[in-house]
Amino acid sequence: MLGAAVTALAGHAVPAVSAVAPLRRRLWPDLSGTGRPDHVALTFDDGPDRRSTPRMLRALAEADVRATFFLLGAMLDHDHALGREIVAAGHEVAVHGWAHRNLLGRSPWGTYTDIARAHDLVSRVTGTEPRWYRPPYGVLTGAALVACRRLGLRPRLWTAWGRDWTAEATPASVYREVTGDLTGGGTVLLHDADGTGAPGAWQATLGALPLLVAWARERGLTVGPLGSHRAGSPPAPPPGRRWRPPARPRAFPDRGRSRAGTG
Ligand SMILES: [Zn+2]
Repeated sequence: MLGAAVTALAGHAVPAVSAVAPLRRRLWPDLSGTGRPDHVALTFDDGPDRRSTPRMLRALAEADVRATFFLLGAMLDHDHALGREIVAAGHEVAVHGWAHRNLLGRSPWGTYTDIARAHDLVSRVTGTEPRWYRPPYGVLTGAALVACRRLGLRPRLWTAWGRDWTAEATPASVYREVTGDLTGGGTVLLHDADGTGAPGAWQATLGALPLLVAWARERGLTVGPLGSHRAGSPPAPPPGRRWRPPARPRAFPDRGRSRAGTG
């Protein structure tokens, strides 16, 4: 992940800044996922994966917590049923793109088709309209912003992460990393699959989950999905209820329209 941020620093100011959490929090609180101060948004990237995601779903059910899963189209395409299980358990599904590739190496059209293909699969398979997009490695480009507007997606990154993709990660290290940066209104990035990290790294995440939920609750913070993160947003549904995003007008209903007015 840091490698991506360093690459980005080579000459692309916006993606570089977007990948550095403290700077981003200050400059673009919305993009960082800053929400109401009594709430923490819990998000998982890189799944779904039959080897690990069901374990995360069970731990979340035991903790009585709903979260947002940023799905990779390529992973979901292997296991449509698992995408439906995530939604049936009351969680929110969102778009992490089709392939886990740094967007800096992609053309505007390649970027659009990657995000649109994942968006369409997530919608079709889970029966819910995804609202959020998170780019691989947190590197957001102008082309990705254009694609998001056309697809009705809002980009959301994070304010705290667990460094839970490394071979050295343990439940204690993930807990330390997250709580070192997390405050009320923050968005936590974790991973429910190890496809882009060290094999089995998700086990550290799994062990850290109940500790993180307890940490938040001791501070009077509610843990939930991004859909419940803003002031005035509805609370997360009770366990076992499908996530239903509230109806909203689509900003760009016509996908064939020209990309006027954006970079
Ligand atoms: Zn990722």
